Amino acid sequence: MTHLGPERRADIDLAAIRANVERLRAQVAPAVAMAVVKANGYGHGAALVARAALEGGAAWLGVADIGEALALRAAGITAPILAWLHDPTTDFAPAIDAGIDIGVSTIDQLEAIASLDTDAPPLVQLKVETGLSRNGLPPAHWDEAFERAALLEKAGLLRVRGIFSHLANTSAESDEEAIAAFSTALALAEDAGLSPDLRHLASTAAAIQRPHARFDLVRLGIGIYGLSPFGEMDSADLGLRPAMTLRGRIAAVRRVDEGAGVSYDHIWRASAPTTLALIPLGYAEGIPRAASDVAEVWIDGVRHPVRGRIAMDQLVVDVGDAPVQVGDIAVLFGDPARGHPSADDWARWAGTINYEIVTRIGPRVERFAE
Ligand SMILES: *Cc1c(COP(=O)(O)O)cnc(C)c1O
Repeated sequence: MTHLGPERRADIDLAAIRANVERLRAQVAPAVAMAVVKANGYGHGAALVARAALEGGAAWLGVADIGEALALRAAGITAPILAWLHDPTTDFAPAIDAGIDIGVSTIDQLEAIASLDTDAPPLVQLKVETGLSRNGLPPAHWDEAFERAALLEKAGLLRVRGIFSHLANTSAESDEEAIAAFSTALALAEDAGLSPDLRHLASTAAAIQRPHARFDLVRLGIGIYGLSPFGEMDSADLGLRPAMTLRGRIAAVRRVDEGAGVSYDHIWRASAPTTLALIPLGYAEGIPRAASDVAEVWIDGVRHPVRGRIAMDQLVVDVGDAPVQVGDIAVLFGDPARGHPSADDWARWAGTINYEIVTRIGPRVERFAE
């Protein structure tokens, strides 16, 4: 099989993304779905994923920072977007002008947004800290922040559209504590005179596992890409289809003798004559070097071991006596239902999580809608 496409490609199955969103939506209804497309759509291509997720019924898009939100607007996406990670230098004005909801984690951010000169009141969603110890208003600031927000809202200087927080997904007990803390925050906000339309707490794991964490909206990241947030359950167990298939075109094939050392440091040597295939993907593409000598790739229906160190631009596969040729296509990971290794497999081989495997796929890999 020869192939004329680029030597490194990630094919993104948009039908799978649509189906994953539809499936998760059905599970969480009447809560609505926000598709989280930060970090270039977990490596899949933010605009591609955003469009497919909206087609699948997502009502919202979520990103970490304002740059990501503006990039979606520049790509022509008009759906509601929430961006929640800022620092003291963040300029909120372009985001407000672009109709982006701002996740607000400090009273200073609230004041900065209220002081902008805008046509319509900026839309904010207050992020409260409930046990993750990252951003979000800490409980000690809740009363002051809610009262101030209510005042600014009454003055027409902003509108509080939502209140949200994020779970640590550590254990049922810790999530229950966070849900209770969140409920306390909601009650205090109401006492202060706020009545946000969107209360949200759950990402994929809690959206699936904890019905009472769903509130009005769930923020779905990993699940829409068809991957499981749970170590003990895979995509198929959740009825999800992995959306990314990562492929490389074999750049060289070489027959070697017994004893030949392979790649840097010669951590592997051929124990018998064999054929080695060179794939032009390496750690610059996000292929984890930690998976050297243990990972497997799929070539023409067969899984072959990666041998030696994974390098910056390339890795070597021992194909034995298989009739593999230059130009053949290797699948590093995809949907295990098709026999391909999965992102979960790579996570295990590299000692990490599937999130990191897909999100780190680098810019030399061309993304194609499939
Ligand atoms: C990344 C992120 C999500 C999505 O989490 P998944 O586990 O991928 O579903 C949701 N909410 C916030 C605040 C996030 O940062």
